[in-house]
Amino acid sequence: MKYTAEYRDPGLVHGVIEEIRRTVTQPWVIMEICGGQTHAIMRYGLDQLLPPEIELVHGPGCPVCVTSLELVDKALAIASQPGVIFTSYGDMLRVPGSSRDLFSVRAAGGDVRVVYSPLDAVKIAQENPDRQVVFFAIGFETTAPANCMSVLQAKAMGLTNFTVLVSHVRVPPAMHAILSSPRNRVQSFLAAGHVCTVMGYWEYPPIAKQYHVPIVVTGFEPVDILEGILMDVRQLEKGQYEAQNGYARVVTFDGNHPAQNIIQKVFVECDRKWRGIGVIPGSGWCLRPEYADFDAEIRFSVSDIHPEESPLCIAGQILQGLKKPFDCPAFAKICTPENPLGATMVSSEGACAAYYRYARSPVDAASVEA
Ligand code: SF4
Repeated sequence: MKYTAEYRDPGLVHGVIEEIRRTVTQPWVIMEICGGQTHAIMRYGLDQLLPPEIELVHGPGCPVCVTSLELVDKALAIASQPGVIFTSYGDMLRVPGSSRDLFSVRAAGGDVRVVYSPLDAVKIAQENPDRQVVFFAIGFETTAPANCMSVLQAKAMGLTNFTVLVSHVRVPPAMHAILSSPRNRVQSFLAAGHVCTVMGYWEYPPIAKQYHVPIVVTGFEPVDILEGILMDVRQLEKGQYEAQNGYARVVTFDGNHPAQNIIQKVFVECDRKWRGIGVIPGSGWCLRPEYADFDAEIRFSVSDIHPEESPLCIAGQILQGLKKPFDCPAFAKICTPENPLGATMVSSEGACAAYYRYARSPVDAASVEA
């Protein structure tokens, strides 16, 4: 397939690996922000091909993983109400709240439906005028334009039975939070190509300069990821700290202006709580006051939410690059994809799920480092 097969070419992969080996002279910690990149790294064994000087840590770019427990509990409370059709992407159905998940709400008789687009939820609202239809609008910058479109479309259609439960998060404030932490280990980033397709990467040069970290916009295929690592390593070795574009076949500096305009029309920046991490100022998008009629948190007064995370789960530390999934005492023992304790074991982009699926363990890490 054009633009896929050539980026999985084994000869090219080994060529870039060799170039990284020739370039690196000392240990570096590089964080891939996006959970999709984490899974690609594990799936293709890229972490095991890299020289031992390169340590990859896994960032918070998995929307399912960082949606706060409070909001998951709110979703569960709303979905349990009579007359509600609660719609969501499939991954969210298995994310554990304090005591249950959306699957168990459905099993108890709740009308919880998986949709593949927020516009499907608008259609369901149109077809069910006597029911309240709620869409769980999670995600980073990538999914924000479509979620905003659903609100604009519902408004244009005059729907009064459609609301969104918004949990949008933004990458740049999360990078600031990670880099300003006294415990930070990250020395360089692979920025998420799909986020930058929408937003461009004009927000990254000031971050690279302020914290002295190279940032490379990176795609999702093996050659893309390794090229991103090579560009980071070249900068690190030279003491350069720039934002560079390693995904130029898709991403421009300015990004997609029409998509950004739709986001600005519907959303406004707000503080957002990230699961396991806490509140990051300015890291979220919320509905503008003029779209309050479409805000599920206003439509449904859900009180009595007392979120309670599993005391064993260290997902917050994993998502900041401080720990690896196998550092968690529950990993692959009492926490598995069949019985997840935390969201990072559920999501198709979660780091714990990636380590479980591709069988990474401290033994593997030691043998790579040996
Ligand atoms: S293995 Fe499970 S309990 Fe441990 S950090 Fe990952 S999701 Fe949380």
